[in-house]
Amino acid sequence: MRHVRRLLPIIATRPRPFVETLVSNLVVHLGVLGVAAGLALLIGRTLAGEPAPVAEWTALLGVGAIVVAIATWRESLVSHDLAYGLIGVLRDRVFTALRRSLPDRRDARRSGDLAAVALADIDTLEWLYAHTVAQTVSATVMLLVTTIASVAISPLLLLVWLPLFVMAVAVPFIATGRVDARAKELSTRRAALRADLVEAVQGLRELRHAGALDARRTGIGADDAALARVQTRIASRAGIERAASDALLALAGLGAIAVVIARIDTVPPSLTPLAFTIATAALLPAAQIADLLRNGGTLRESSRRVLEILDRPPSVVDAGNTASQLEASDAGLEFRDVGFRYHPHAPLVLDALSFAVRPGETVALVGASGAGKSTCARLALRFWDPDSGSILVGGRPLPALADDRLRRLVSAVPQGAPLLSGTIASNLRLGDPAASTEVLERAAAQAGILSPDAGLPDGLATPVGELGAGLSGGQRARVAIARALVVDPRVLILDEATAALDDEADAVIGSFLRQPSERATLVIAHRPSTIAACDRVVVLEAGRARAD
Ligand code: ADP
Repeated sequence: MRHVRRLLPIIATRPRPFVETLVSNLVVHLGVLGVAAGLALLIGRTLAGEPAPVAEWTALLGVGAIVVAIATWRESLVSHDLAYGLIGVLRDRVFTALRRSLPDRRDARRSGDLAAVALADIDTLEWLYAHTVAQTVSATVMLLVTTIASVAISPLLLLVWLPLFVMAVAVPFIATGRVDARAKELSTRRAALRADLVEAVQGLRELRHAGALDARRTGIGADDAALARVQTRIASRAGIERAASDALLALAGLGAIAVVIARIDTVPPSLTPLAFTIATAALLPAAQIADLLRNGGTLRESSRRVLEILDRPPSVVDAGNTASQLEASDAGLEFRDVGFRYHPHAPLVLDALSFAVRPGETVALVGASGAGKSTCARLALRFWDPDSGSILVGGRPLPALADDRLRRLVSAVPQGAPLLSGTIASNLRLGDPAASTEVLERAAAQAGILSPDAGLPDGLATPVGELGAGLSGGQRARVAIARALVVDPRVLILDEATAALDDEADAVIGSFLRQPSERATLVIAHRPSTIAACDRVVVLEAGRARAD
């Protein structure tokens, strides 16, 4: 319960709907009990031939029933408003935590996995916020009221329903271990299925090309069937428990009637319906507590996983507003004695690596596959900090620069940069959502999007199709370059894709690199034509730089 408890304080961010949920819940429960008890009393007196102001009571009970109906509607509305508001807050926190902590160099799990799991778990927590806290309070109040009412009618009534109450709570409590294990299996399977689906949709094109679509579909189908089996087992168990709880209710009612009819205590027969009502109503909080215990496993498991993400340490510490500002004109890139490994026990990928890219210079970084070229690019973008040495932009170590400042100084064109459906303009805005049209046009012009030989007569308004499928390889390369240029970076890192680059894209990159500029450009290069377009070559070998 420790994990669940840690997620409860966010309720304090939405006090008003919480209080409303609590009040309407109490009105519903006490209202139902009041109307049922009033009715039972009226019936009892009428049957016993005692005088009862039938008309007044009926009117009063009618009003009570209407109040309960309104409160029921209100409770459903405000409890869900509360829950969805809170899971919105939680989603935002999880997203922030993921953004801070990814990519994680020590955790091989895919970020899609983490996000999919977290989203599924947060949805589960809707139940925690909509149906547990306020309901537990009102269940406790109900228990108190029915206890007092029972003692007032006959203390024997208490002996009738109390053992049944204990049984109703004890059974799910004893089964907690098994229920937890099943809940864990259910949420693990559900999360894995979600992650697989997200990955399959994202990699649809690759799967189709590799002819692996059917195999993947079969795999997902098998996961689905396994999930359904667990769900069926859980549903069957829930059915048995519900039946048992109904049986206990019936027993409580029968016991109450027996107390009156067998004259075990001196309860007047006119109170028989009331005794029946109170004894059965006393078991309703037990049903709520049992429900809570049954769902406790799922809640605990989901809370644990959501907290696992919220507690992830940031991959780098942002210097924030205290960071010194950098003059834009002298911003070259320098690696100074950089040492880096992905895991404490893994070999060094970079070993005292030193090289520099001066402003206005284009440097090709080459080396065998696995030499550490992409690692250099990620370090220059400050995905992580090096284990030793430092990386400087304009003479300042990266940790001294605020994150948003760094994002504007150093920009990258990643391998096979994905485009999203929309226009070229909307894709360029991913580089800077606040960019003006003039800024987009400048970036587009630098990447050659607006030149006649780009074949894009509609310019920025051109639709790119799903994942950029409506554009040629060269056009996609231009958009990817322009997107990186939107922030007018002083350092540009270009990761030339090895396989996915056609001749047209190759030519686009070559002519872009030959344009004179003030930027320091580092190109992770594979093709001789790209290398030839650069001013200088740095060869990466055994984690060190060798000038060529
Ligand atoms: P290159 O870009 O030169 O092909 P990389 O920088 O991608 O090389 O990789 C350098 C080395 O680091 C390789 O041995 C690779 O297996 C390893 N590596 C890369 N990324 C990771 C990672 N996320 N976790 C662990 N090892 C990694």
